[in-house]
This record gives sequence, structure tokens and C-alpha cells, in this order.
Amino acid sequence: MCGKTRDMSIDLPPLREVIARHGLSASKALGQNFLFDEQLLNRIAAIPGDLQGKAVLEVGPGPGGLTRALLRAGARVTAIEMDSRCLPALEELSDAFPGQLRIMQGDALKLNHDELMGEPFAVLSNLPYNVGTALFVRWLAGETWPPQWTSLTLMFQQEVAQRIVASAGNSAFGRLSVLAQWRSTAALAMKVHRSAFTPPPKVMSAIVHVVPSAMPEGVSAKVLERITEAAFGQRRKMLRQSVKGIEGAVAALEALEIDTQRRAETLSVEEFVALARILSRPAPAGRNLLSPQ
Ligand code: SAM
Repeated sequence: MCGKTRDMSIDLPPLREVIARHGLSASKALGQNFLFDEQLLNRIAAIPGDLQGKAVLEVGPGPGGLTRALLRAGARVTAIEMDSRCLPALEELSDAFPGQLRIMQGDALKLNHDELMGEPFAVLSNLPYNVGTALFVRWLAGETWPPQWTSLTLMFQQEVAQRIVASAGNSAFGRLSVLAQWRSTAALAMKVHRSAFTPPPKVMSAIVHVVPSAMPEGVSAKVLERITEAAFGQRRKMLRQSVKGIEGAVAALEALEIDTQRRAETLSVEEFVALARILSRPAPAGRNLLSPQ
């Protein structure tokens, strides 16, 4: 099973049968919308490229639809699932792919993923919508770059996915876009119709694929976060108003010849980076650029 080639031959029962046998009725509280279409699941597992022998973190495997696609692709999967009802179904998968699946029960928000994995890893997940954005922000916000994860392939509500990949000038452009694009590339990999899920959610979904790129020099992630928070926190206001609480921000805009009457959503990711670079310079003694004036 851990051989060098993809093993599509392992005979697994249909996912619907697994759900019925283990009594896995979808829980709304846990954000459960399951995917059963194995061709679709194989296409999702193929998004990050060849996974043969690679370490993969999957959050929220549920009954294991995406998990089985990852295992068939030859990945070594660590799956974190909160719902203990899903564990017997996942154990069956582990038996079918010996040595390839590690199952952890718990809340993915409370675990240190780098420590858990202990090596570079790809993240693939049909995330529960309620925790998806929190995990995404955490994976992207670290001060250490490049991160231990090599790519993020994540399902979001389509509207959130569009915010992540939006460019400046687009009404969807905001904090998530800057966070996802200032030292990574973020692309919309696939749209997924609501009817593909059981039960179908109210809105359409899309998969975003993020790969880390070079960290711009001289920029503190915390400073960039603080400036985008202020700028987009009052996105209808002019920048000279929205960022005035951050010491030196208006002067930095002027130094960069960025019109302070512009609004946050018109500033490119590069302009945010340039602004953060100036504000990341060590402050004169006794002053801290991260605190409000
Ligand atoms: N991956 C499966 C699929 O594609 O069919 C299930 C996806 S379902 C949208 C989300 C899964 O995440 C559920 O199984 C749910 O129990 C699990 N989950 C919810 N919150 C979680 C958390 N904080 N940590 C780990 N798993 C969680």
C-alpha cells in the first residue's frame, strides 16, 4: 500500500454506505457537509501536484472522502477530526492503507500543526466553514517565513475564496487578500457546486490553492497586519483618516507619494508592503509603532 505507484485498486465501500453503517448523520453544529463524488475528490487531491510519499495535514476528514483520495495518491496523511463518531470509519481507512494514515481526535484550532507534523507538509482540507478562516489566518500570519507548510489547498465559501484572490480595486479586495498575497501566491483552483455536498450548503464553494513565495525584506508581519487592520477596518474612509492612529503612517504614505485621500481597497499589495516596510523600521527610543498614538 505504501508502494511507489498510485494504488487506485484498493476496494473501498461507497462513502454513502460508510456513512449509513456508522450512523454519521451530518451535524450542523460541526459544519458538516460531506463530499461523496470520488472523481471530484480525486481532482481535489491532485491540485497540489504529486503527493506520493508526501506528508499531508487534513483538517476535518469526516467520514474520510478526501482522505481516501489523498491515500490513493500515496500521501502520508495526518487527519484531525473533532467528531468522535467519525473515528471508526477513519480506522477502517487506516487498515486499508497500512502505515499511511494517522488519526488525531480534537480541535484543529487548539493544536500546534508544525509540532504535530515535524516535517514539511501540504495542507488539504474541506474545512468546516466556521473554523476555516481562523485556521487560514493562522497559517498565513506567522512571523517565520517560509512556513513549514508547502501549500494550502482549502475549500471556502465562494465569496470568501473570491476575497482571498481579489486584486486591488475590486470590491472583494481586503485584509484576507493582502494576507494571502504579500508573500504567497493565491489562486482559485476550482469552483464546487453546492449540490456536490450532502447536505447541500446554502452557498457555492470554491477551492483556493496557496503557495508560499519569498518574504519581502525588511517587513514585519505584525506591522503589515496592523496597517491592513486599520485601513480595512474603516474601508469607506480615506487612508489619512483610517490609518491616523498608527504613528508615522500618514507620513509614510506621503513619503511613498501615495495620495492619502485614497481608500484602502485601491492600494495594491505592493503598496501595502512598501508602507509596512517603512513602519517596520526601528522606532526612535521610547516609541512603539505598533501602539496607537
Ligand atoms: N472532509 C469531509 C468531506 O469532504 O466530506 C468532511 C467535511 S465537513 C465540511 C467538515 C469536517 O470538519 C466535519 O467532519 C467536522 O466534524 C470537522 N470539524 C469541525 N470543526 C473542527 C475542528 N475545529 N477541528 C477538527 N475538525 C473539525
